Amino acid sequence: ETSHVSAVLDELCATVEDYPSEGIVFKDLTPVFADGPAFKTMVDAIANAFEGSFDAVAGIEARGFLLAAAAAYATGTGVITIRKAGKLPREVFAESYALEYGEATLELHKEDVPAGTRVLILDDVLATGGTIGAAAALLERSGAVVAGVGVVLEIEGLPGRSNLADYEVVSLQKV
Ligand code: AMP
Repeated sequence: ETSHVSAVLDELCATVEDYPSEGIVFKDLTPVFADGPAFKTMVDAIANAFEGSFDAVAGIEARGFLLAAAAAYATGTGVITIRKAGKLPREVFAESYALEYGEATLELHKEDVPAGTRVLILDDVLATGGTIGAAAALLERSGAVVAGVGVVLEIEGLPGRSNLADYEVVSLQKV
């Protein structure tokens, strides 16, 4: 099962050097999303790793939305949208953080997550962990419990996993 997911990712994930800026090796999973059997294999592998331990799935805009919506639908759980600044219309919590390239702010509606909800956070790529760390902080400010962190790819040689040491982190593949 694990080796099947890895084989699918090896075959379909595109690697783009120096995007979006020099020195960044960008992992582009859009070909995996575009392939039906590959998409299902990827989503099921992440959801199964946390089976029974979450009530909702949070996706981080934008690629995390694709994973979170699919995993939530597959497991009959809710989907929570963690968005870039300025997109949510009601009162929000906001967290700013440093990216592998640049800086950013994520927001979450204050009232979207009932206290005590066990939330699985999903995103496509774990690099420094800044993005997921901000997402986790937003959920915790809502009173939610972070049930785990799932990513498709984990970039080795960056402190992503150590920056998320408080959480169970599952990646489908290290690159
Ligand atoms: P970080 O906050 O450093 O863990 O960066 C993770 C976020 O930036 C994720 O939302 C990724 O989609 C994106 N990202 C960072 N580095 C890369 C990379 N090398 N390839 C693809 N996406 C990346």
